[in-house]
Amino acid sequence: MDKILTLDAKNGLLNLIKGARKVLCVGHVNPDGDSMGSTLMVMKWMKRLGKEAHVVMPNRYPDFLDVIPGAEEVVCFDTKPQLAKKIVTEADLIFVCDHNHKDRTRDLAPVLEENKCPRIMIDHHLEPEDFCEVTISRPEMCATCELLCHLLTELGEMDTLPLDEVECLYSGMMTDTGAFTYNSGRAEVYECVSRLIARGLDKDKLYRRLFWTMSPARLRLQGYLLYSKMKVIPGMNAAFMTLTNAERRLLDTKNGDTEGIVNIPLQIKGMKLTCLMAQDTEHPEQYRISLRSVDDFPCNELSADFFDGGGHKNAAGGKYVGSEEEVIMQFKKAVKAYEHLLK
Ligand code: 5GP
Ligand code: MN
Repeated sequence: MDKILTLDAKNGLLNLIKGARKVLCVGHVNPDGDSMGSTLMVMKWMKRLGKEAHVVMPNRYPDFLDVIPGAEEVVCFDTKPQLAKKIVTEADLIFVCDHNHKDRTRDLAPVLEENKCPRIMIDHHLEPEDFCEVTISRPEMCATCELLCHLLTELGEMDTLPLDEVECLYSGMMTDTGAFTYNSGRAEVYECVSRLIARGLDKDKLYRRLFWTMSPARLRLQGYLLYSKMKVIPGMNAAFMTLTNAERRLLDTKNGDTEGIVNIPLQIKGMKLTCLMAQDTEHPEQYRISLRSVDDFPCNELSADFFDGGGHKNAAGGKYVGSEEEVIMQFKKAVKAYEHLLK
């Protein structure tokens, strides 16, 4: 593997860190495990270096991620806007983690824009926007946390990495790869895992702490969606599900309970593309779209074409303003347009 840092990037990074006193780590809207793991790891690292450091997220993360070390310290802009603003305003260095476009911080973006301090991007998404003094972008990596793992190894930090930071990194890698079932075929991924285990990680226990924590309601939601809502489009190797806010209330669904459900229909033999379209709880006039695929099917392109979104080849998302019927029509239209890649 090529080195993560050129000499210039290394000096730039270390100089920016050296000069900083108040560090802010920012993740993306609807934070996932990688967004949480990467920002929290960097926060803890900066604290070890004697700096004041905080994580600010545009909105609340799903409850199941609260086992990631330090999650209780995350300041969510939607629930604590005043505190979040204060932290953003006072920061003299900003780490942009697990996203590479300003608009991925949604309502927090204009607040961030007011602070002109230097930024360091650490990210694994395609096509980074150019707005950071140092941009460390490696789209081939399975997670921002994998990138951090290689980076810390290069900086000589890995041999003494504290266990809580080790768990942050593994949480990000595990959640972004469906526990190493997709987007995780590079040997370097397991070099990282090996180093983390050498630092004391109990990977099986962390898996159970993160994933085997369902409420009965969350498990029932999966059953309901698979039994009553999953539709397979004949001959297309594509399936979709929709979820309305009325159904969420009926099933007593909590924030984050839909996490992972979109992947389940990929277990059907021959399935290439799956989609969950869930009515937005904050903006009920629109649906949040989650897409998953296998092999070369480009979810991100379909999402850009039909759902004003993007993401990775095998995992992408977007949105659509309309009713349940309309969003289903839109998905069917998208499948028709991509028929040649699905059949
Ligand atoms: P999820 O289905 O887990 O919400 O999103 C999967 C991936 O799609 C995310 O990691 C992110 O990269 C991307 N994604 C989700 N929503 C959007 C969106 O609205 N716009 C863009 N550009 N990417 C998105
Ligand atoms: Mn990620």
